[in-house]
Amino acid sequence: MSGAADNGRDQRVVVVTGANRGIGRAIAERFVAAGEKVATIYRSGDLPEGVFGAVADMRDSAAVDTAFASIEAELGPVQVLVANAGVTKDTLLMRMSDEDFADVLDVNLTGTFRCVRRVTKNMVRGRYGRIVLISSVVGLYGSPGQVNYASSKAALVGMARSVTRELGGRGITCNVVAPGYIDTAMTQALPEATQEKYRAAIPAGRFAQPEEVAAAVEFVASDDAAYISGAVIPVDGGLGMGH
Ligand code: NAP
Repeated sequence: MSGAADNGRDQRVVVVTGANRGIGRAIAERFVAAGEKVATIYRSGDLPEGVFGAVADMRDSAAVDTAFASIEAELGPVQVLVANAGVTKDTLLMRMSDEDFADVLDVNLTGTFRCVRRVTKNMVRGRYGRIVLISSVVGLYGSPGQVNYASSKAALVGMARSVTRELGGRGITCNVVAPGYIDTAMTQALPEATQEKYRAAIPAGRFAQPEEVAAAVEFVASDDAAYISGAVIPVDGGLGMGH
């Protein structure tokens, strides 16, 4: 669909943050399979075959800028950004410290902002860009114990829509993909009883695999999706339905 081979465009430079594991890894693998030039900004671990890696922590603005500079030096200007790196630090509201709240926002929201700001300069110059922000069903659905995480993920909707209004006339789209319950380390860490409660609430009656999120990301980053921007695309088996 969006592959270099079938859209007539040269290979695009795609950056997926946090491609060492989970959903980010599946997204990076999908873009590699589609023939794109794929890079990641990551902290640790090993990377899928064919993915160029630059190390940075999303909380460190200067390190993120340097990582993008090394990707550009290796592969060229970034045309597709998938802001995927994210964390949870769950606890009930009354026990949530300022640090619990600020730490999660620093990675999920400000870290995403740092990446979006960095790539848009060249996208404007090239009059082309695809930005995909990985949010979560809980951003719009809400979730007890996740006031920090849900706030950070809901804010990505405002970010995508503002970027769309600011840069939509320059060939740049910015969309949100909101996964529901995906089988990764993040969800495997939840207690069995919580997992069962979620499963019962999901109309599809099952959890999803990271590859199912990757398929939606590939589509919104494709040329076929040029007229979709500021949208929230749920991949959640009907749990939240992306209000
Ligand atoms: P995961 O397996 O926990 O992976 C999280 C990724 O984010 C890892 O690559 C991690 O790197 C990276 N990361 C975390 N903090 C970072 C930091 N400070 N700087 C740079 N990278 C950092 O999670 P996942 O399930 O694949 O989640 C990926 C995205 O999907 C997240 O944004 C998450 O909120 C979202 N999501 C997940 C689900 C789900 O059900 N799993 C549902 C909705 C949304 P390290 O390996 O170095 O820690």
